[in-house]
Amino acid sequence: MPHVDLLLRGGTVIDGTGAPRRTADVAVSGERIAAVGALGGLAATRVVDARGLVVAPGFIDVHTHDDRLLLAAPDMAPKVSQGVTTVIVGNCGISLAPLGNAEAVPPINLVADAGGERFGSFAGYFAALEARPAAINCAALAGHTTLRAVSMADLGQPANDAEIAVMQAHVREALAAGAIGVSTGTYYGPAAAATADEVRRIFEPLRGTCAVIASHIRDEAEGVLDAMQEVFAIASGLGVRQVVSHHKVIGTANFGRSRETLAAFDTARRSGDVCLDCYPYTASSTILTQAAARQAQRVLVAWSTARPAAAGRYLDELAAEAGLAPEAMIDALQPAGAIYFSMDEADVERILQYPETMVGSDGLPHDVFPHPRLWGAFPRVLGHYVRERGLFSLEVAVHKMTGLPASRFGLAARGRVEPGCQADLTLFDPARILDTATFAQPTAQAAGIAAVFVNGVEAWHDGGSTGARSGQVIRRH
Ligand SMILES: [Zn+2]
Repeated sequence: MPHVDLLLRGGTVIDGTGAPRRTADVAVSGERIAAVGALGGLAATRVVDARGLVVAPGFIDVHTHDDRLLLAAPDMAPKVSQGVTTVIVGNCGISLAPLGNAEAVPPINLVADAGGERFGSFAGYFAALEARPAAINCAALAGHTTLRAVSMADLGQPANDAEIAVMQAHVREALAAGAIGVSTGTYYGPAAAATADEVRRIFEPLRGTCAVIASHIRDEAEGVLDAMQEVFAIASGLGVRQVVSHHKVIGTANFGRSRETLAAFDTARRSGDVCLDCYPYTASSTILTQAAARQAQRVLVAWSTARPAAAGRYLDELAAEAGLAPEAMIDALQPAGAIYFSMDEADVERILQYPETMVGSDGLPHDVFPHPRLWGAFPRVLGHYVRERGLFSLEVAVHKMTGLPASRFGLAARGRVEPGCQADLTLFDPARILDTATFAQPTAQAAGIAAVFVNGVEAWHDGGSTGARSGQVIRRH
């Protein structure tokens, strides 16, 4: 064995496959893992004492809206501080590319703003990310709602044949540039008029590829089962994998129905290729709408352009102070975003425990007062749900954040601590790791992350960014 660049000595390796932990050294040469095992005599430029720490694959955040953050704040502190080394952007139908100069109608305004950078193609977006790398890796989905915004005259209608042809061309461009799939968000206004047939036709270029479809389904409340069947049918018709994004059941009338939805996943998995992700909280977050507020027990304002001081305040208190009905208060705050307390803890735990469930933060990085999932999702699973609640083993939790998403999203040579894999590595203290971000203090750094390496380069150390920018664009292979 020749001299290596980096040797992590004596750590507890949890390799991302779900296999039991073992004590082992990990050697890194360049951007790759060179060896794992008892490497006592090995010469290394740098030796890190990893005793007492877990050495895991860097976490893969499968559900993000970090499209613009990668360029605007490339240290990616909300994510790398949690041990995340790869983010998948372009979820919920909203991707920054290929929006170009089209209007960023809500919810596209969650990722694109008026003054920020815009890209008319995925080739252009990836070129910018490679010219100005971020601290962590990314892979991208092309959003159906973004495609509608750039291709259609009237978003309130199903697409016509000519518009579908334009959107298909954008999908081909995205796939050729290296996008790993597409996303939909028919829950939201600008895509609600899209029929299943429209979506299937636009995504026809996926047929015969390993690209995936990730969907914020049309209904996560009363109609959740029908909405799941709709996306299962589209994906199986195209012969591709379907990811159900941030799976949940919303509204007190639906509490407990994760038993039904997970049974539906079991059934669908016998004949098709479906999986899901989940964030570990009982509150959701997106733009502020009357419909979402009606399904919530309480609403916390995340941002408001009309009334910036409302960020971080509860809607009921704002309405009482202003002498307005909640509905009128919502109108007065527009455009705005919110956090909705709308789920049952038992459903969240049941969904997290499901074997095919991956972890995704769904963090909204541009919100003034963001949902704490942005800074806390991964340490919350490891600290609260594994160590404190005992929902599943640390090995299973790491698998849900690494090997499982790398396999489901087709990220080659990622998500495992194995010779030949990219050296994306997170070192954490299993006794201390915990989210500290809360609904009152939402941007606090998690505890217990000791170091994070991205493609062999240390990006985060002991609570701070190293300034390294070794993130790569991961393309569909
Ligand atoms: Zn969504």
